[in-house]
Amino acid sequence: MTTEAVYLDYNASAPLRPEARTAMIAALEVDGNASSVHRCGRDARAVVEAAREEVAALVGAKPAEVIFTSGATESNNWFAAAGWDTVMLAPIEHDSLYAPVRNRAGKVIEFSVGKDGVADVSEVAGLTLLSNAELGCAAVSLQMANNETGACQPVAETAAFAREHGFFVHTDAVQAAGRLPINLAHLGVDALSLSAHKIGGPKGIGALVLRDGATLPSFVTGGGQERRRRAGTENVAAIAGFGAAARASTRDLATMSKIAALRDALEDGIKGVTPNTEIIAKDAPRLANTSCFVCAGKRAETLLIKLDLEGVAVSSGAACSSGKVGVSRALEAMALAPELAQSALRISIGHATTREDITLFLKAWKGIHRSDQIAA
Ligand code: PLP
Repeated sequence: MTTEAVYLDYNASAPLRPEARTAMIAALEVDGNASSVHRCGRDARAVVEAAREEVAALVGAKPAEVIFTSGATESNNWFAAAGWDTVMLAPIEHDSLYAPVRNRAGKVIEFSVGKDGVADVSEVAGLTLLSNAELGCAAVSLQMANNETGACQPVAETAAFAREHGFFVHTDAVQAAGRLPINLAHLGVDALSLSAHKIGGPKGIGALVLRDGATLPSFVTGGGQERRRRAGTENVAAIAGFGAAARASTRDLATMSKIAALRDALEDGIKGVTPNTEIIAKDAPRLANTSCFVCAGKRAETLLIKLDLEGVAVSSGAACSSGKVGVSRALEAMALAPELAQSALRISIGHATTREDITLFLKAWKGIHRSDQIAA
Protein backbone atom coordinates (compact mmCIF):
# COMPACT_ATOMS: atom_id res chain seq x y z
CA MET A 1 0.00 0.00 0.00
CA THR A 2 1.47 3.36 -0.95
CA THR A 3 1.44 6.21 1.56
CA GLU A 4 0.35 8.80 -1.00
CA ALA A 5 -3.37 9.23 -1.64
CA VAL A 6 -2.73 9.47 -5.37
CA TYR A 7 0.23 7.54 -6.74
CA LEU A 8 1.15 8.60 -10.29
CA ASP A 9 4.78 7.46 -10.50
CA TYR A 10 4.58 3.99 -12.07
CA ASN A 11 7.66 4.48 -14.24
CA ALA A 12 9.71 4.88 -11.06
CA SER A 13 8.08 1.86 -9.45
CA ALA A 14 4.60 0.41 -9.88
CA PRO A 15 2.65 -0.57 -6.76
CA LEU A 16 2.98 -4.24 -5.88
CA ARG A 17 0.15 -6.18 -7.50
CA PRO A 18 -1.98 -8.26 -5.11
CA GLU A 19 -1.17 -11.35 -7.21
CA ALA A 20 2.55 -10.73 -6.71
CA ARG A 21 2.17 -10.23 -2.97
CA THR A 22 0.22 -13.51 -2.64
CA ALA A 23 2.76 -15.43 -4.72
CA MET A 24 5.67 -14.03 -2.69
CA ILE A 25 4.09 -14.87 0.66
CA ALA A 26 3.45 -18.43 -0.53
CA ALA A 27 7.02 -18.72 -1.83
CA LEU A 28 8.45 -17.55 1.50
CA GLU A 29 7.09 -20.77 2.96
CA VAL A 30 9.32 -22.77 0.60
CA ASP A 31 12.52 -23.39 2.52
CA GLY A 32 14.79 -25.10 0.02
CA ASN A 33 17.56 -23.83 -2.20
CA ALA A 34 16.44 -24.19 -5.82
CA SER A 35 19.75 -25.94 -6.61
CA SER A 36 19.27 -28.69 -3.99
CA VAL A 37 18.21 -32.10 -5.16
CA HIS A 38 16.01 -32.97 -2.16
CA ARG A 39 12.28 -32.34 -2.03
CA CYS A 40 12.57 -28.85 -0.50
CA GLY A 41 15.00 -27.90 -3.23
CA ARG A 42 12.70 -29.28 -5.89
CA ASP A 43 9.79 -27.28 -4.44
CA ALA A 44 11.84 -24.10 -4.70
CA ARG A 45 12.90 -25.05 -8.24
CA ALA A 46 9.25 -25.54 -9.22
CA VAL A 47 8.41 -22.01 -8.04
CA VAL A 48 11.33 -20.55 -10.01
CA GLU A 49 10.49 -22.46 -13.19
CA ALA A 50 6.79 -21.58 -13.07
CA ALA A 51 7.74 -17.91 -12.77
CA ARG A 52 10.25 -18.25 -15.60
CA GLU A 53 7.42 -19.41 -17.87
CA GLU A 54 5.30 -16.37 -16.99
CA VAL A 55 8.15 -13.92 -17.58
CA ALA A 56 8.95 -15.63 -20.88
CA ALA A 57 5.29 -15.38 -21.95
CA LEU A 58 5.28 -11.61 -21.26
CA VAL A 59 7.97 -11.09 -23.92
CA GLY A 60 7.18 -13.99 -26.28
CA ALA A 61 10.39 -15.81 -25.36
CA LYS A 62 11.18 -19.40 -24.47
CA PRO A 63 11.53 -20.03 -20.72
CA ALA A 64 15.15 -21.15 -21.19
CA GLU A 65 15.92 -17.71 -22.65
CA VAL A 66 15.03 -15.97 -19.36
CA ILE A 67 17.92 -15.43 -16.94
CA PHE A 68 16.97 -13.93 -13.58
CA THR A 69 19.12 -11.06 -12.34
CA SER A 70 18.94 -8.61 -9.42
CA GLY A 71 17.14 -6.09 -11.63
CA ALA A 72 17.46 -4.26 -14.91
CA THR A 73 20.48 -2.32 -13.66
CA GLU A 74 22.39 -5.60 -13.48
CA SER A 75 20.97 -6.76 -16.84
CA ASN A 76 22.06 -3.52 -18.52
CA ASN A 77 25.48 -3.61 -16.84
CA TRP A 78 25.87 -7.20 -17.99
CA PHE A 79 25.30 -6.22 -21.59
CA ALA A 80 27.67 -3.25 -21.27
CA ALA A 81 30.45 -5.35 -19.73
CA ALA A 82 30.58 -7.90 -22.54
CA GLY A 83 33.85 -6.62 -24.00
CA TRP A 84 32.50 -4.79 -27.06
CA ASP A 85 34.99 -2.83 -29.12
CA THR A 86 32.19 -0.55 -30.32
CA VAL A 87 28.77 0.19 -28.83
CA MET A 88 26.16 2.34 -30.51
CA LEU A 89 23.43 3.81 -28.32
CA ALA A 90 21.34 6.93 -27.84
CA PRO A 91 21.80 9.50 -25.06
CA ILE A 92 18.22 8.85 -23.92
CA GLU A 93 19.20 5.48 -22.42
CA HIS A 94 18.76 4.94 -18.70
CA ASP A 95 21.88 5.59 -16.61
CA SER A 96 22.17 1.88 -15.80
CA LEU A 97 23.05 1.34 -19.45
CA TYR A 98 24.48 4.68 -20.50
CA ALA A 99 27.03 5.05 -17.67
CA PRO A 100 28.63 1.60 -17.93
CA VAL A 101 28.79 1.85 -21.72
CA ARG A 102 30.43 5.26 -21.54
CA ASN A 103 32.78 4.28 -18.72
CA ARG A 104 34.24 1.21 -20.36
CA ALA A 105 37.20 1.20 -22.70
CA GLY A 106 36.16 1.09 -26.35
CA LYS A 107 34.46 3.16 -28.98
CA VAL A 108 30.99 4.66 -28.36
CA ILE A 109 28.88 6.03 -31.16
CA GLU A 110 25.75 7.96 -30.18
CA PHE A 111 22.58 8.24 -32.23
CA SER A 112 21.15 11.70 -32.39
CA VAL A 113 17.63 12.15 -31.05
CA GLY A 114 14.81 14.09 -32.69
CA LYS A 115 12.71 16.76 -30.99
CA ASP A 116 10.03 14.08 -30.64
CA GLY A 117 12.34 11.98 -28.43
CA VAL A 118 12.91 9.26 -31.03
CA ALA A 119 16.46 8.16 -31.85
CA ASP A 120 17.60 8.60 -35.43
CA VAL A 121 18.61 5.04 -36.15
CA SER A 122 19.36 5.71 -39.79
CA GLU A 123 22.78 6.41 -38.31
CA VAL A 124 23.26 2.67 -37.79
CA ALA A 125 23.88 2.64 -41.52
CA GLY A 126 26.91 4.85 -40.91
CA LEU A 127 28.38 2.15 -38.71
CA THR A 128 28.39 -0.34 -41.53
CA LEU A 129 30.52 2.01 -43.59
CA LEU A 130 33.29 1.66 -41.06
CA SER A 131 35.66 -1.18 -41.67
CA ASN A 132 35.61 -4.30 -39.52
CA ALA A 133 39.05 -3.38 -38.25
CA GLU A 134 37.67 -0.04 -37.02
CA LEU A 135 34.55 -1.53 -35.43
CA GLY A 136 35.84 -4.79 -33.99
CA CYS A 137 33.17 -6.63 -32.04
CA ALA A 138 30.18 -4.28 -32.24
CA ALA A 139 26.83 -3.98 -30.47
CA VAL A 140 23.81 -1.71 -30.69
CA SER A 141 21.55 -0.95 -27.76
CA LEU A 142 18.26 0.88 -28.13
CA GLN A 143 15.59 1.06 -25.44
CA MET A 144 12.03 0.13 -26.40
CA ALA A 145 10.45 3.11 -24.64
CA ASN A 146 11.85 6.01 -22.71
CA ASN A 147 11.25 6.18 -18.96
CA GLU A 148 10.90 9.97 -18.94
CA THR A 149 8.92 10.76 -22.09
CA GLY A 150 7.37 7.40 -22.96
CA ALA A 151 8.63 7.82 -26.56
CA CYS A 152 8.82 4.42 -28.27
CA GLN A 153 11.95 3.65 -30.25
CA PRO A 154 12.24 1.78 -33.57
CA VAL A 155 13.87 -1.32 -32.10
CA ALA A 156 12.68 -3.92 -34.64
CA GLU A 157 13.87 -1.84 -37.61
CA THR A 158 17.22 -1.21 -35.97
CA ALA A 159 17.64 -4.86 -35.02
CA ALA A 160 16.86 -6.07 -38.53
CA PHE A 161 19.54 -3.84 -39.99
CA ALA A 162 22.12 -4.30 -37.25
CA ARG A 163 21.91 -8.07 -37.15
CA GLU A 164 22.23 -8.26 -40.91
CA HIS A 165 25.62 -6.66 -40.39
CA GLY A 166 26.59 -8.98 -37.56
CA PHE A 167 26.12 -6.56 -34.66
CA PHE A 168 24.81 -7.85 -31.35
CA VAL A 169 21.51 -6.09 -30.51
CA HIS A 170 20.29 -5.31 -27.00
CA THR A 171 17.16 -3.51 -25.89
CA ASP A 172 16.16 -2.14 -22.50
CA ALA A 173 12.49 -3.15 -22.43
CA VAL A 174 11.94 -2.11 -18.81
CA GLN A 175 9.31 0.55 -19.51
CA ALA A 176 7.72 -1.20 -22.48
CA ALA A 177 7.06 -4.51 -20.72
CA GLY A 178 3.41 -4.90 -19.85
CA ARG A 179 2.61 -1.72 -21.78
CA LEU A 180 3.38 -2.86 -25.32
CA PRO A 181 3.09 -6.38 -26.72
CA ILE A 182 6.61 -7.81 -27.00
CA ASN A 183 7.80 -10.81 -28.92
CA LEU A 184 11.51 -11.51 -28.69
CA ALA A 185 11.73 -13.25 -32.07
CA HIS A 186 9.69 -10.60 -33.92
CA LEU A 187 11.70 -7.85 -32.30
CA GLY A 188 14.83 -9.56 -33.58
CA VAL A 189 17.08 -8.58 -30.67
CA ASP A 190 19.71 -10.78 -29.05
CA ALA A 191 19.12 -9.61 -25.50
CA LEU A 192 16.45 -7.71 -23.62
CA SER A 193 16.44 -6.26 -20.08
CA LEU A 194 13.43 -6.46 -17.76
CA SER A 195 12.65 -5.22 -14.25
CA ALA A 196 9.91 -6.68 -12.04
CA HIS A 197 9.03 -3.58 -10.06
CA LYS A 198 7.98 -1.61 -13.14
CA ILE A 199 5.20 -4.13 -13.81
CA GLY A 200 3.89 -4.54 -10.28
CA GLY A 201 6.39 -7.08 -9.04
CA PRO A 202 8.93 -6.67 -6.24
CA LYS A 203 12.04 -4.51 -6.39
CA GLY A 204 15.47 -6.10 -6.75
CA ILE A 205 14.60 -8.74 -9.30
CA GLY A 206 14.76 -8.59 -13.08
CA ALA A 207 15.92 -10.58 -16.05
CA LEU A 208 18.13 -10.59 -19.04
CA VAL A 209 16.34 -12.44 -21.82
CA LEU A 210 19.04 -13.89 -24.05
CA ARG A 211 17.94 -15.25 -27.42
CA ASP A 212 18.57 -18.94 -27.92
CA GLY A 213 21.92 -19.09 -29.73
CA ALA A 214 23.15 -15.69 -28.54
CA THR A 215 25.89 -15.61 -25.92
CA LEU A 216 27.30 -13.10 -23.46
CA PRO A 217 30.16 -13.79 -21.06
CA SER A 218 28.81 -14.21 -17.51
CA PHE A 219 28.79 -11.04 -15.44
CA VAL A 220 28.12 -12.48 -11.97
CA THR A 221 30.25 -15.59 -11.61
CA GLY A 222 31.04 -18.23 -9.01
CA GLY A 223 28.09 -20.58 -9.17
CA GLY A 224 26.25 -22.77 -11.64
CA GLN A 225 22.81 -21.17 -11.30
CA GLU A 226 20.72 -20.08 -14.26
CA ARG A 227 22.38 -22.71 -16.46
CA ARG A 228 25.80 -21.35 -15.52
CA ARG A 229 24.91 -17.94 -16.98
CA ARG A 230 24.31 -15.99 -13.73
CA ALA A 231 25.71 -17.16 -10.43
CA GLY A 232 23.99 -16.72 -7.06
CA THR A 233 21.23 -18.51 -5.17
CA GLU A 234 17.91 -17.62 -6.77
CA ASN A 235 15.73 -15.19 -4.81
CA VAL A 236 12.76 -17.54 -4.89
CA ALA A 237 10.14 -15.24 -3.34
CA ALA A 238 11.11 -12.28 -5.54
CA ILE A 239 11.10 -14.50 -8.62
CA ALA A 240 7.63 -15.80 -7.66
CA GLY A 241 6.42 -12.19 -7.37
CA PHE A 242 7.97 -11.34 -10.73
CA GLY A 243 6.22 -14.30 -12.33
CA ALA A 244 2.83 -13.35 -10.89
CA ALA A 245 3.29 -9.72 -11.98
CA ALA A 246 4.30 -10.85 -15.47
CA ARG A 247 1.21 -13.02 -15.74
CA ALA A 248 -1.07 -10.15 -14.64
CA SER A 249 0.72 -7.73 -16.97
CA THR A 250 0.29 -10.05 -19.95
CA ARG A 251 -3.45 -10.20 -19.14
CA ASP A 252 -3.66 -6.41 -18.70
CA LEU A 253 -2.15 -5.65 -22.10
CA ALA A 254 -5.72 -5.92 -23.38
CA THR A 255 -6.76 -2.97 -21.19
CA MET A 256 -4.13 -0.49 -22.38
CA SER A 257 -6.80 1.59 -24.16
CA LYS A 258 -8.32 2.38 -20.73
CA ILE A 259 -4.93 3.58 -19.50
CA ALA A 260 -4.56 5.71 -22.65
CA ALA A 261 -8.01 7.24 -22.05
CA LEU A 262 -7.02 8.16 -18.48
CA ARG A 263 -3.74 9.67 -19.69
CA ASP A 264 -5.59 11.69 -22.34
CA ALA A 265 -8.11 12.95 -19.77
CA LEU A 266 -5.21 13.94 -17.55
CA GLU A 267 -3.45 15.88 -20.32
CA ASP A 268 -6.69 17.62 -21.39
CA GLY A 269 -7.35 18.56 -17.76
CA ILE A 270 -3.83 19.94 -17.26
CA LYS A 271 -4.10 22.04 -20.40
CA GLY A 272 -7.48 23.31 -19.20
CA VAL A 273 -5.82 24.70 -16.05
CA THR A 274 -2.44 25.71 -17.53
CA PRO A 275 -2.93 26.27 -21.28
CA ASN A 276 0.78 26.98 -21.83
CA THR A 277 1.63 23.37 -20.91
CA GLU A 278 3.60 21.57 -23.59
CA ILE A 279 3.37 17.79 -23.77
CA ILE A 280 6.77 16.29 -24.52
CA ALA A 281 7.07 13.68 -27.29
CA LYS A 282 3.38 14.03 -28.10
CA ASP A 283 4.07 13.54 -31.81
CA ALA A 284 5.98 10.32 -31.24
CA PRO A 285 4.49 6.89 -30.73
CA ARG A 286 4.21 7.04 -26.94
CA LEU A 287 3.54 4.66 -24.10
CA ALA A 288 -0.11 4.93 -23.12
CA ASN A 289 0.74 5.36 -19.45
CA THR A 290 3.28 8.20 -19.58
CA SER A 291 2.89 11.95 -19.74
CA CYS A 292 5.87 14.26 -19.56
CA PHE A 293 5.07 17.96 -19.75
CA VAL A 294 6.63 21.34 -19.24
CA CYS A 295 5.12 24.58 -18.02
CA ALA A 296 7.23 27.64 -18.83
CA GLY A 297 8.17 29.66 -15.75
CA LYS A 298 7.55 26.84 -13.23
CA ARG A 299 10.18 24.78 -11.47
CA ALA A 300 9.53 21.06 -11.41
CA GLU A 301 10.92 20.63 -7.89
CA THR A 302 8.53 23.26 -6.52
CA LEU A 303 5.55 21.71 -8.28
CA LEU A 304 6.58 18.26 -7.11
CA ILE A 305 6.77 19.36 -3.47
CA LYS A 306 3.45 21.20 -3.66
CA LEU A 307 1.81 18.14 -5.18
CA ASP A 308 3.40 15.93 -2.55
CA LEU A 309 1.89 18.14 0.17
CA GLU A 310 -1.49 17.49 -1.47
CA GLY A 311 -0.83 13.74 -1.30
CA VAL A 312 -0.04 13.35 -4.99
CA ALA A 313 3.14 11.51 -6.05
CA VAL A 314 4.64 12.41 -9.42
CA SER A 315 8.20 12.69 -10.69
CA SER A 316 10.44 15.34 -12.13
CA GLY A 317 12.51 13.67 -14.81
CA ALA A 318 13.80 10.19 -14.02
CA ALA A 319 13.21 9.11 -10.43
CA CYS A 320 16.40 7.04 -10.48
CA SER A 321 18.34 10.26 -10.93
CA SER A 322 16.18 12.50 -8.80
CA GLY A 323 17.93 14.30 -6.01
CA LYS A 324 20.26 15.67 -8.63
CA VAL A 325 19.00 19.04 -9.77
CA GLY A 326 20.01 19.30 -13.36
CA VAL A 327 18.60 18.95 -16.79
CA SER A 328 17.71 15.42 -17.78
CA ARG A 329 19.99 13.88 -20.40
CA ALA A 330 16.96 12.71 -22.38
CA LEU A 331 15.36 16.15 -22.54
CA GLU A 332 18.72 17.72 -23.38
CA ALA A 333 19.13 15.22 -26.23
CA MET A 334 15.75 16.40 -27.55
CA ALA A 335 17.17 19.95 -27.62
CA LEU A 336 14.58 21.20 -25.15
CA ALA A 337 15.58 24.62 -23.82
CA PRO A 338 17.18 24.16 -20.35
CA GLU A 339 14.70 26.54 -18.65
CA LEU A 340 11.82 24.48 -20.05
CA ALA A 341 13.50 21.18 -19.18
CA GLN A 342 13.79 22.37 -15.57
CA SER A 343 10.02 22.51 -15.40
CA ALA A 344 9.47 18.97 -16.70
CA LEU A 345 7.13 16.79 -14.68
CA ARG A 346 6.43 13.16 -15.43
CA ILE A 347 3.17 11.46 -14.60
CA SER A 348 3.01 7.72 -15.12
CA ILE A 349 -0.02 5.58 -14.41
CA GLY A 350 -0.86 1.90 -14.47
CA HIS A 351 -2.86 -1.05 -13.32
CA ALA A 352 -4.40 0.47 -10.19
CA THR A 353 -4.95 4.03 -11.47
CA THR A 354 -8.57 5.18 -11.40
CA ARG A 355 -10.51 8.11 -12.85
CA GLU A 356 -10.78 9.36 -9.26
CA ASP A 357 -6.96 9.56 -9.12
CA ILE A 358 -6.98 11.78 -12.21
CA THR A 359 -9.74 13.96 -10.74
CA LEU A 360 -7.81 14.34 -7.48
CA PHE A 361 -4.60 15.20 -9.34
CA LEU A 362 -6.40 17.85 -11.39
CA LYS A 363 -7.97 19.30 -8.24
CA ALA A 364 -4.51 19.61 -6.70
CA TRP A 365 -3.09 21.06 -9.92
CA LYS A 366 -5.84 23.66 -10.07
CA GLY A 367 -5.35 24.56 -6.39
CA ILE A 368 -1.60 25.01 -6.79
CA HIS A 369 -1.96 27.26 -9.80
CA ARG A 370 -4.81 29.27 -8.27
CA SER A 371 -2.73 30.03 -5.16
CA ASP A 372 0.25 30.93 -7.40
CA GLN A 373 -1.97 33.42 -9.26
CA ILE A 374 -3.21 34.95 -6.00
CA ALA A 375 0.38 35.24 -4.72
CA ALA A 376 1.55 36.86 -7.98
N1 PLP B 1 16.01 0.86 -17.45
C1 PLP B 1 15.02 1.74 -17.40
C2 PLP B 1 14.47 2.29 -18.69
C3 PLP B 1 14.50 2.17 -16.17
O1 PLP B 1 13.51 3.05 -16.15
C4 PLP B 1 15.06 1.65 -14.99
C5 PLP B 1 14.60 2.14 -13.65
O2 PLP B 1 14.11 3.23 -13.53
C6 PLP B 1 16.08 0.71 -15.08
C7 PLP B 1 16.55 0.34 -16.33
C8 PLP B 1 16.72 0.09 -13.86
O3 PLP B 1 15.87 -0.93 -13.36
P1 PLP B 1 16.06 -1.55 -11.89
O4 PLP B 1 15.36 -0.61 -10.96
O5 PLP B 1 15.39 -2.89 -11.96
O6 PLP B 1 17.50 -1.69 -11.61
